[in-house]
Amino acid sequence: MIAKFLGTGNLGTAPRSATLLMAQTIVRRLTRQIRIGGVPVGGGAQITVQSMTNTPTADVAATVAQIRRLEQAGCDIVRVAVPDDASAAALAAIKARIGIPLIADVHFDYRLAIAAAQAGADGLRINPGNIGAARKVRAVVECAKERGIPIRIGVNAGSLEKDIVKKYGGATAEGMVASALRHIELLRGFDFEAVKVSLKASDVARTVAAYRQLAGATDVALHLGVTEAGALFAGIVKSALGIGMLLAEGIGDTLRVSLTRDPVDEVRVGFEILKALHLRRRGPEIIACPTCGRTRIDLFGIVARIEQALTASTLPITIAVMGCVVNGPGEAREADIGIAGGDGVGILFRKGRVVKKFPEERLVEVLLKEVAEAEKSMRGEAIRSKKKNDRPGE
Ligand code: SF4
Repeated sequence: MIAKFLGTGNLGTAPRSATLLMAQTIVRRLTRQIRIGGVPVGGGAQITVQSMTNTPTADVAATVAQIRRLEQAGCDIVRVAVPDDASAAALAAIKARIGIPLIADVHFDYRLAIAAAQAGADGLRINPGNIGAARKVRAVVECAKERGIPIRIGVNAGSLEKDIVKKYGGATAEGMVASALRHIELLRGFDFEAVKVSLKASDVARTVAAYRQLAGATDVALHLGVTEAGALFAGIVKSALGIGMLLAEGIGDTLRVSLTRDPVDEVRVGFEILKALHLRRRGPEIIACPTCGRTRIDLFGIVARIEQALTASTLPITIAVMGCVVNGPGEAREADIGIAGGDGVGILFRKGRVVKKFPEERLVEVLLKEVAEAEKSMRGEAIRSKKKNDRPGE
């Protein structure tokens, strides 16, 4: 089940380091494609980044506001919890006001899954371990078929079926895979193939082992994640390790980073993981020096302000933010654009060459202006090339 869907690092003018990288290009595993709303998942489609809202779903205004912030950060698909009838009923109003596909997350009550699908959800996430008897699953499947929407089978180590826990001596990776395969077969038995699967455990080793085993046993699209990953530091490390290891092996079609934080941070971390592996790029890559005894500016604060200001930017460039004017430009000579400052002076450099000097307090302002101009010219370029392509006979 391996096909040559390569990572998308732009290696056009390849220096030696890039040549080495090319030799390590990730070959993605080919899965069966499904569509969630208009967004393809699997089958060589670009890896999508998902998140989940943490507002009460029945509070339409708050949920829509959060989803719009997620959209701005680049979130491709969003999931909302549907714990009751009011939440299911709210989906239609939410969907009408957002621009990305909406997935309903349902536990225990199959009738809620049906209500969510009927309210217009673009996909369902159910945990077969707690949705109940096969006839209930069948009712959900029939509704999904009618609406033409896919289902994610969300296997969770914490809620595996009792017989599987008994057979495998606990909630093991093997047990999680057995549960997933059982439910893939169950849905296939109802003539339903529009499926993706997630296998989540809160520890990295078990999560990775389970996905690896399942990837060898089926061609369904895989949704990656480490569940209950935790607060910022632990969550980022666990997710980067678990999701990153699998992606590096070509496993995974869509992902969600779980953090006990604002979900916008989940999206940012998701894109950083993809960016680090050269699998997908969205927006600038911001690099910064670690600071040292030569640093005379508040580099931590400056980097945070720049990151915050560029959250919604889609400009595909590398920006360096460096702690001193003497070594900064040279150390960051591979960056497209950079700033450095110290002792009252700020500099702007391109590919290591200083192009402008200004008072140090204008560092952030000058950089953001440069980025805004580059974005404007990128948009102009895109419009010109579209017009050229649209012209008949050319
Ligand atoms: S760029 Fe300057 S401040 Fe930053 S680590 Fe290098 S020498 Fe130190």
